[in-house]
Amino acid sequence: MKNDHYCERCNVSYILFSREVKCPNCQHSTAVLTHEHYTFIPETLKIMQENKRQFNKYAPDVFTITSLADYLRRHCLVIFDKLELQNPDNHSHFLDRAMGKLDWHDNLYLKIHFRDIIAELHKHYTYKKPKHSLKSGFKSLFYA
Ligand SMILES: [Zn+2]
Repeated sequence: MKNDHYCERCNVSYILFSREVKCPNCQHSTAVLTHEHYTFIPETLKIMQENKRQFNKYAPDVFTITSLADYLRRHCLVIFDKLELQNPDNHSHFLDRAMGKLDWHDNLYLKIHFRDIIAELHKHYTYKKPKHSLKSGFKSLFYA
């Protein structure tokens, strides 16, 4: 899958979700790529919208994992479902705690990488608390 990028120096796989991303294991910078390589975040946001409409949640019960991108994306969807379910006042605190519970086994470099991905997704995500009428960029998409 094109979302998985392999570091040419240390050979771990990671997600090139933006131009600034370096290898989370060895900090090696990849050659400059074209815009079409940075699709992980927009694809994930699109999947979130579609799943919300179809299943009323982000993480579907059946989720095929064939790549690192799929694996990390599934964790993202589960965490954002929990975020909306628990509806905490402090999103960053909640996200930190949720991420702290994940076990990366021998792939500790993914811990920081995943935190960066969640932060990037959260930047593009606006959730409207049900009780209040705050403006929300995605409200019309998620709850149309
Ligand atoms: Zn590397």
